Amino acid sequence: MLNTLIKLTNNTIRTMENIVGKDNVLSAYEELLTYSTDSTNITNPDEIAEVVVFVENVQQVSKIMKYAYSKSKPVIARAAGTNLCGACLPKKGGIIIDFAKMNKILEISKDNLICKVEPGVVIEDLQKEVGKLDLFYPPDPSNLKASMIGGSIGLSSGGPHTFKYGATKDFVIDLEVVLSDGTIMHTGSSCSKDVTGYNMTQLFVGSEGTLGIITQATIRLIPKPEAKRVMLAYFDTLEDTSKTVNDIISNLITPSVIDLMDNNTLKTIESFYPCNLKTDKTAALLIEIDGFKEILDSQYNKIIEICNRNNSSYIQTASTKEEEARIWISRRSSFGATAKLAPNVLTEDVVVPRENIVPLVKGIWEICKKYELKTCIMGHIGDGNIHPNIALDLRNPVERYNFDRAKTELFELALSLNGRLSGEHGIGCEKSEFISKALDPNNLEYMKKIKKLFDPKNILNPGKIF
Ligand SMILES: Cc1cc2nc3c(=O)[nH]c(=O)nc-3n(C[C@H](O)[C@H](O)[C@H](O)COP(=O)(O)OP(=O)(O)OC[C@H]3O[C@@H](n4cnc5c(N)ncnc54)[C@H](O)[C@@H]3O)c2cc1C
Repeated sequence: MLNTLIKLTNNTIRTMENIVGKDNVLSAYEELLTYSTDSTNITNPDEIAEVVVFVENVQQVSKIMKYAYSKSKPVIARAAGTNLCGACLPKKGGIIIDFAKMNKILEISKDNLICKVEPGVVIEDLQKEVGKLDLFYPPDPSNLKASMIGGSIGLSSGGPHTFKYGATKDFVIDLEVVLSDGTIMHTGSSCSKDVTGYNMTQLFVGSEGTLGIITQATIRLIPKPEAKRVMLAYFDTLEDTSKTVNDIISNLITPSVIDLMDNNTLKTIESFYPCNLKTDKTAALLIEIDGFKEILDSQYNKIIEICNRNNSSYIQTASTKEEEARIWISRRSSFGATAKLAPNVLTEDVVVPRENIVPLVKGIWEICKKYELKTCIMGHIGDGNIHPNIALDLRNPVERYNFDRAKTELFELALSLNGRLSGEHGIGCEKSEFISKALDPNNLEYMKKIKKLFDPKNILNPGKIF
């Protein structure tokens, strides 16, 4: 039996080498083990791929899929592997396609406000390139220095700018996709408006590599805002924090970012990356506005007035680029700082209608206190999207058990507040057992039918979502 398995694996490796060349294939155990994890922090040494393949063009992907289809072999697309829901773990072994080498920006059109990119383009690189032409690609999963277009489309990533500009799904207008049998398909067009048939593009956005493999994307761009202003406003109560968000919006201001950090987050960041945060406050709001210079000053002053009216106990303003950068560095350090509290950090991602943000955050505090979990809460409060970063030692069975209990209660809480299991990180294998509690059963049934239509042999990223 073992010999047959080894022979089959060797066949796969040889076939992959023929398709992409020896230098683009990894098959040593140690190499495969590094691909058996992602930013979810969960590794199972029994669940490793047979082979990792670096692809350079769509034809290679198509050939790999034809082979995998003929052998009913799982295929997992992998970009930077920074997802937080186990979305690219090789649960059933198989072939991992790594897109790091398919990283070309193929076209940027200022007249059409679009660009065409390969899936391995790093988001910050794209933002910089389009920025040179005074254009802007807003979706920014807070780790934009690492995460790639293919992965962010796979999960329809959001991030801090979603409140004003929308998530990845709002920017993708056409995809080149390789289907499970190797067929190459385009889902949309380069037109900014297009209702010619079903919106197939959106079907693939957020599908976590379970319906097809993306080999090219056409993405909408917008003109780059001329200027921005940033501030950090502190509050002693969650109610004042939440009311401030609503009052800013009621005053017809749409901040480009309105993010929340709770007291534990402030304290943890300050312990490891000191940047003069006020660690005695219950919560802080990072508020960024952008647009034409002339209007920003009046909006900035109006926001300060609203914060003061809602009992803000301190407002840290930024008048130079360096001061702005310092505020942003503090916010972007929240995950890294929490990761210093314990060997592992697990990030959750629930979303509720914004009116329920206070009971959600208070409920999370209570659940984590009950299970004695070190938790730093931050999130995109404008979207009602909250991330508890939970620091623990997964080798400790008590902590692991407590985390699993807390996770179940967290999802129950979010659902009881008319919320959902994920606002932007996806389902992966980490939340798949809960999906039937969150979706209308008829909706779930049709999702499964769609999966079967596109992937009758269940070879595309099996064990994810359902
Ligand atoms: C510190 C930190 C902060 C984060 N902050 C945010 C945040 O604010 N907002 C947010 O939304 N997310 C956030 N994330 C999560 C993560 O960064 C995003 O989900 C990210 O966009 C994933 O990109 P990736 O390139 O790492 O994709 P991967 O993790 O490699 O893949 C993600 C999914 O896409 C699929 N996929 C990859 N490439 C393809 C392809 N070519 N075709 C089809 N499917 C494909 C994979 O199979 C997988 O299901 C954060 C993560 C970290 C570690």
